[in-house]
Amino acid sequence: MGNLWEETAGEPALDAPPLQAEVEADLAIIGGGFTGAAAALWAAGQGARVVLLEAARIGHGGSGRNVGLVNAGLWLPPQDVMDTLGAEAGARLNAALAGAPELVFGLAERHGIACEPVRAGTLHCAHAPAGLAELRRRAGQLHAVGAPVRLIGAEDTAARTGASGLAGALHDPRAGTVQPLAYARGLARAARDRGALIHENAQVISLNKQNGSWHVRTAAGKAVAPRLLVATNAYHVPFPGMAVPRTARLSYFQLATAPLGAAEGAALLPGGEGCWDTGLVMTSFRRDASGRLILGAMGLPERGGRALHHGWARAKLARLFPALSGAAFDHAWSGWIAVTEDHVPRILRPARGALAVFGYSGRGIAPGTLFGQAAARALLDGNESALPITPVARYGESATLTRSLYYETGARLVHAWQRLRGA
Ligand SMILES: Cc1cc2nc3c(=O)[nH]c(=O)nc-3n(C[C@H](O)[C@H](O)[C@H](O)COP(=O)(O)OP(=O)(O)OC[C@H]3O[C@@H](n4cnc5c(N)ncnc54)[C@H](O)[C@@H]3O)c2cc1C
Repeated sequence: MGNLWEETAGEPALDAPPLQAEVEADLAIIGGGFTGAAAALWAAGQGARVVLLEAARIGHGGSGRNVGLVNAGLWLPPQDVMDTLGAEAGARLNAALAGAPELVFGLAERHGIACEPVRAGTLHCAHAPAGLAELRRRAGQLHAVGAPVRLIGAEDTAARTGASGLAGALHDPRAGTVQPLAYARGLARAARDRGALIHENAQVISLNKQNGSWHVRTAAGKAVAPRLLVATNAYHVPFPGMAVPRTARLSYFQLATAPLGAAEGAALLPGGEGCWDTGLVMTSFRRDASGRLILGAMGLPERGGRALHHGWARAKLARLFPALSGAAFDHAWSGWIAVTEDHVPRILRPARGALAVFGYSGRGIAPGTLFGQAAARALLDGNESALPITPVARYGESATLTRSLYYETGARLVHAWQRLRGA
């Protein structure tokens, strides 16, 4: 019952060595998820000397655990982003993110990344008639910025998903799905092929700046570089020498069935879209290349939550797809999502020559790739103007623990209540 993506990744684990010497580079990167690996690939492609230090394995954090929805934007729709950041900054971020799925699928193609790319779009599904108002609001905002999204009715939604009880959906043809762990590994592998030094089991334990260079220490080695990118997001393991801001974290779990036979699987997502819904406690579902159905939702299956959340998921599967009621799940995993107060990611400039990127708030595949590339470029060129958002010198959030508890309490209450009603 482990992480499906570990079992099916078309890109093998890198099995990179820990750092056991002192190395010099132009750019040191801490964290081997989409952000760090995309940064390493971009910088190595420019001929820069790059060293990437990952505490565990490439994709150990959110990048190797996620749903695999490659979205064209943040969780917030475009006008909400502009209301939050201001019209000009919001429009700049929206425009950059609109093209980010193209960037992801383009990199996968260019570097031959075996990550099951499917460019069939996503369906944001109305979990109930009440969800349609939210979809109309989003469609209005997306149409206003020229996004080619389309609202479809309940009948079309049922035909495209094979699911029961959905009131409609918003199709975004720019989006799609990938096998996320394979995509993260593929970025790192391509970076290594271009000369980047990738080190796994290389947790950074301290950092300081001497004579204009960052000295980044692991248990057995040291990297020295004038430029530094911290890409540790929700999985940040603190080290002395730099305070990286905390955000709230929410847990998201997923369960996968065995590959479905032709009879039971034919009507389920025949077009291959990835789906999520408008529920207060969000649910997602998608297929993988082997024809499994993967169901996910907010919730922490540890600390006493497993029976509740997994029991809810079994009932939800039966309600959405009655033909699958009783089908067993044979993979189960979960991960932490870093959620900022306003759901907008941040780029922090903690000191000259350093950037930290975090807080994608559940939208990290395309944004992480884009932000990682852009951060590497800004650091190496010394020019921040091409960053998708303006870096801040200081950032702090209050009550992050309380907000984290609020998310999990809400997920437990909603799942308990829905279970009583048959999910
Ligand atoms: C369950 C789940 C579902 C999601 N679904 C989607 C989705 O469908 N679509 C989407 O776009 N986004 C999704 N997301 C969000 C997305 O996965 C993240 O935003 C993204 O992975 C962040 O990438 P990252 O590279 O910034 O961080 P991560 O992938 O979390 O990588 C950070 C890395 O830093 C390493 N690290 C931490 N501290 C240190 C240290 N001291 N020294 C060295 N290394 C260190 C960690 O080991 C980790 O590997 C989901 C997230 C989760 C958890």
